[in-house]
Amino acid sequence: MWFSSHPRPIFGVVTIETAPLTMPQLETLSPSRASDFKHCPQLFKFRAIDRIEVPATVHQARGTTAHLALQRLFDHPAPERTPELLFDLFRAAWVELRETEFAELFDDVGEERAWGMESLEILANYFEVEDPQAIEPLDRELDMCEELGDMTIRGILDRVEDGPDGLVITDYKTGTAPPQRFALPAFFALKIYALLLRARTGATPRALRLLYLNGPTEYTLEITDTQLDAMERQLEALWSAIERAITTATYPPRVSRLCDYCQYRDRCPAFSGGDPGRMDEDAAPIGVAAQG
Ligand code: SF4
Repeated sequence: MWFSSHPRPIFGVVTIETAPLTMPQLETLSPSRASDFKHCPQLFKFRAIDRIEVPATVHQARGTTAHLALQRLFDHPAPERTPELLFDLFRAAWVELRETEFAELFDDVGEERAWGMESLEILANYFEVEDPQAIEPLDRELDMCEELGDMTIRGILDRVEDGPDGLVITDYKTGTAPPQRFALPAFFALKIYALLLRARTGATPRALRLLYLNGPTEYTLEITDTQLDAMERQLEALWSAIERAITTATYPPRVSRLCDYCQYRDRCPAFSGGDPGRMDEDAAPIGVAAQG
C-alpha cells in the first residue's frame, strides 16, 4: 500500500496560524474549504474562520454512513461484495455513528427508520454504476497532505485504483448529480486530489470519477498533466486570494443558487444586512486548526 488510511473527518481542513502582533497566515487548506472560498468567501469565513457549528442534517448523516460502508465493503473478498453485505455494513456504521456524531438527529424511531429505508434504496443504486467484485482499490480513505509549491494542501480521498491507462480517482456522492452541462465544476475538488496524488507518487492520474448514488449517475473526466498544471495555477491564485481575505478580514458574500441550501443563510449579511465579511475580534484566535 502506498498510503495510510485514517478515519474520515466529516469536513475538510483549513489551518490558519497567527503569532502575537502579526497577521494570521494560511497554513494548510483542504479541497473542501478551497471550494467554499471559490463559491463564496463569506461561506468560507463562516466555516473556516468563525467555525460556526450548524446542526447535522440527514443528508450529512447519510453521506458519512454510506462512505464508511463503501470503504469497508472492500475489506471483504470480492465474491462477498453483494448488496446485502453493503446494507449490513451501512446498518453497522449507522449504529456506530448515531451515538457519536448524529445524536438527536431524529425526533422518533419512525423518522429514523424511514431515513434508513431511503438510504438503503439509494445505496442499492451503487451496484448499477459499478461492480465492486471487479475492482481492487489500491487504497481508500487516504489522508493526503502534500506541499505544492508554497501551499500545503490536505484532504481525504475516497478511493484510488489502477485503470487500463493509469490511476483512477473515485469519489462517492449520496446526493443527486448536477445536470451534465454543470458537471465540470463538480470535479474541482477531485482535480486537487489528482494534484496531491501526482505530488505523492510521481504518477499522473488518468481519470476522475464522480459516482452519484441518488440517480444513479456517473461522470468521468479524463485528465492530463497540462490540465493538472492549469489546476495548480488556479489553486495558487485561490490560495493568494484567501491570504488576502485573511489579511484584510474581507469575505464578501457571493449570492448564487447555493444560498438556497446554505446553512448560514440566516446570519449571512447578504440576506440579513449584517457586516459583510469583517472578521470578529474574537474569531481570530491564535494557532487555529479548524476542521470546518
Ligand atoms: S447564504 Fe449565500 S452568500 Fe451567504 S454565506 Fe451562504 S452561500 Fe454565501
